[in-house]
Amino acid sequence: MKKWLVCGACGTQYRLNAPSGLCLRCQESGRLQGLEVSYDYAALSPSRKKAFVQRGRSIWDFSDLLPFDEGVVPVTLGEGMTPLTPMLAASRMGFRHIYTKNESVNPTWSHKDRFNSVAITKVRELGHSRVVGTSTGNQGISTAAYAARADLRSTILFPAETPKLMVDLASQYGALSIVTQWHARDSMVQRLMELGWFPVVSLKNRELTSPYGIEGYKTIAYEILADLGAAPDKVLVPVAGGNALYGIYKGFRELQEMKLIERIPQMIACQASGANVVEKAFKQGLERIGTQPGAYSIATSTREETAGDHVLAAIYRSGGDTVTVSDGEIQDCMRTLAKEGLCAEAASALPTAALFKLIGEKKFKETDTAVCLLTSGGCKSPDILSDLRPPAVRIEASLSALQQVLERMGL
Ligand SMILES: [Zn+2]
Repeated sequence: MKKWLVCGACGTQYRLNAPSGLCLRCQESGRLQGLEVSYDYAALSPSRKKAFVQRGRSIWDFSDLLPFDEGVVPVTLGEGMTPLTPMLAASRMGFRHIYTKNESVNPTWSHKDRFNSVAITKVRELGHSRVVGTSTGNQGISTAAYAARADLRSTILFPAETPKLMVDLASQYGALSIVTQWHARDSMVQRLMELGWFPVVSLKNRELTSPYGIEGYKTIAYEILADLGAAPDKVLVPVAGGNALYGIYKGFRELQEMKLIERIPQMIACQASGANVVEKAFKQGLERIGTQPGAYSIATSTREETAGDHVLAAIYRSGGDTVTVSDGEIQDCMRTLAKEGLCAEAASALPTAALFKLIGEKKFKETDTAVCLLTSGGCKSPDILSDLRPPAVRIEASLSALQQVLERMGL
């Protein structure tokens, strides 16, 4: 299977594993344009295509469309093949084709494991022994775990706002966890790179970019097709840098290229109203995303001041949209999901909160099928969870005290 890198802007092709993740031709004209992986889709035989319409065991069942030669030994912890669960609250309102895809059951409890399984496998293939990453939590934890699995040293730079448990988890996997100011991290990554640390980063139109990790995210699209038997009408994704949304879009685009689906679902970017840089650009019809200094939301994982321009391209090309919701709506949705047995972190509640908003605005039909990506579990942010519910009842060791509680609660 032929695999190569391609520039989305000018179409110039590069060999897989080329040293720069940027298009050199675009760079000559002053444009920073990230490359992405392309494949010879027509060369896939009908029997090999079957892997993309049936539920397998891990993302590596899709290795025909992952950026490695045959026979690669993956760095894997069993990521992917996460459950698609019908959403009961929506069903009760008459919307019976809405699902959450629960990524919190991945090995480090988030969708980032798909990214890191591919990215760290590539790092090992390229012969590096030390990796560096920056993160508000989930990404750093996942990079640390997969680096440990591959016997690589890792350093993760966290902003001071990161929940302590997230930092401790990365350390538990053996990472050197460094907590510093939000904006100090970029120059520190540059210094570590000069010292020989390889960056585990995302696809961006910036100097620091890599096309490989995003190939892990696209497997979410393959799994949705395998579970539903058809592409949904809409896929709602929480957006920070925009890589997960773009990756899923790319997965559906490849399925269309292989003639396994007819149309790509509308990709809906979901953000908090205090950190909505993608919506601001989209509503103005821009192709470049600006910055939003001081962006804030309880959804820490999506609290970014900017995002990659590729997320806008995915929204435009899929006929998609952006939706923002308040922190209060996020908390309400965390409670709603918990009543269905799903404990989502704040950012992971964004898609379902956005979906209820679309329903309220009559922008969603009862016959529409939608998948809301629940990216990570709420257990990593215990402070936010404890704000959602009254505290536990503490009583003395007597049955009469128990009886009083039951009576007070009307149970
Ligand atoms: Zn180019």
